[in-house]
Amino acid sequence: MAKGKLFVISGPSGTGKGTICKSILENEADVKLSVSMTTRIPREDEVDKVHYYFVEQGIFEQLIDESGFMEYASVYGNYYGTPKKQVLQWLSQGNDVILEIDVQGALQVKKNYPQCVLIFILPPSFEELKSRIEGRGSETKETMTRRLGEALHEISFIGRYDYRIVNDDLHKAIAEVRGIITTERCKIDEGEALRIIGKYKEE
Ligand code: 5GP
Repeated sequence: MAKGKLFVISGPSGTGKGTICKSILENEADVKLSVSMTTRIPREDEVDKVHYYFVEQGIFEQLIDESGFMEYASVYGNYYGTPKKQVLQWLSQGNDVILEIDVQGALQVKKNYPQCVLIFILPPSFEELKSRIEGRGSETKETMTRRLGEALHEISFIGRYDYRIVNDDLHKAIAEVRGIITTERCKIDEGEALRIIGKYKEE
């Protein structure tokens, strides 16, 4: 049976990851975006079950105990995690799946699913990142300083990623991520080789 590819997209908040993922979903057939679960309070424009599953800490911890997460992490003092069931189902149905998650989560996924593809989205500069986070208007001075410190920490892990995209032009960044997806779909791994050989022998 066809198996989808798992893509993990990370990068400091304010780099445009969300916008890039949204555009890819709109333009690529057979690509799904995992909806994470979090204990963070929803922002004004966020919708439960669309942007995140917003849950109480107890519910999140119960799913940890049931091994229901592909990965989870504590980010900025809140839990965030990728519910496992839906992602595995999509992959087994042949869909490609994108996880938009932080560096800690990405490295956990790479460890457990080594064939996944890690993509890091970079801001064009630190100054630009600062003004993008400020522009969101949802940050206090304290969370702003913390997010910038976290951004530098996240960037220090870039060597563990397979690809990097600099988001200095949104259209170019989207095209580059789509290019990576196309490239990875055409790659031949061992399972794929056996499937192809079997298919041509049958005909
Ligand atoms: P935000 O609060 O701005 O929505 O997200 C904060 C950070 O948590 C971002 O870096 C985002 O990519 C990350 N994040 C979102 N969902 C998940 C998840 O399921 N797992 C992990 N490890 N990180 C996540």
